[in-house]
Amino acid sequence: MTPPGRGRRRNAPRRKREQPAPPEWEPKTKLGKLVRSGSIKTMADALKTGLPVREPEIIDVLLPELEDEVIDVNMVQRMTDSGRRIKFVITVAVGNKDGFVGFGQAKGKEVGSSIRKAIDNAKLNMIGIRRGCGSWECGCKKPHTVPFAVKGKSGSVEITLKPAPHGIGLATGNVAKKILTLAGVNDCWAFTRGKTKTTVNYAKAVFDALGKNAEMRVLPSEVSKVGIMSGSIPSEDKPKMPETIDDKKEVKEAS
Ligand SMILES: [Zn+2]
Repeated sequence: MTPPGRGRRRNAPRRKREQPAPPEWEPKTKLGKLVRSGSIKTMADALKTGLPVREPEIIDVLLPELEDEVIDVNMVQRMTDSGRRIKFVITVAVGNKDGFVGFGQAKGKEVGSSIRKAIDNAKLNMIGIRRGCGSWECGCKKPHTVPFAVKGKSGSVEITLKPAPHGIGLATGNVAKKILTLAGVNDCWAFTRGKTKTTVNYAKAVFDALGKNAEMRVLPSEVSKVGIMSGSIPSEDKPKMPETIDDKKEVKEAS
C-alpha cells in the first residue's frame, strides 16, 4: 500500500480500525478521557464537543489510518564558543486521506525524534476540510474536489485552490499534491505566486487555504448545490482514491 519508509512513521505497526487505545495511555484532558472510555468514537463527534485536542493519542484512536509525510527537513547550523551546533527543523503533514489533515513542525538535535515530535504536533493541529463538486464544468455533486476557490498565504507564497472537474487529478506543485492527497482531495487546480521553492512557506500557504476551506461560511443552498461534505465521508459517497502519491507523474502546475 504505502511505499516503504514513506507515509507512515517508521517502526509504527499499521493500526487497524476499532483497535482500542494504547494500554499505556492515561488521558489527562476531558476529550482524552471521553475518547479513551469509548464515549466518543469518531473525529466528527470529537469536533462537535468543541473541546481542544491536546493529546496526540486522541487522534491515534479516532483516526487509526492516519498517514504522514515529511515535507521539509532543514538543517540549522550555529557556531558557539564550544563549537558547531546543529539543529533540525522538521515540517510534516498528516492526514487520513478522507477529510482530515494536519500540519506540524518541530525542532531538535536528532532527525528521527524531531520527526516524531512534528507528527505529534500535526495531530494537535488538524482540520476537517470540506469537499464537494465546485466545478461548473463537472457538476457531478460528488465530493471529489474542493467546493469553492480559496486563497492561502504565507511569506511571499500565495496559492489559490480551485475546484477541478472529475479526472483532472491534482494539477498542483509537489508539496500541495502531498498535502491534498493526505486530505483526500482527488481533483484540484492550484494557482501560485511568489517563491514556491521555499517549501515550508508553500506548505503553510496550502494549509492557510485549507483552513479557509474549513471555516468559510456557506449557505445551506450552496451545500446542496455543490454537494458539500465536511470531514470524512460515508463510503457510498466516496470517490475512488489514489493509493499512493505518484511523485514521478508530475502534473504541470498552472500559474
Ligand atoms: Zn464533479
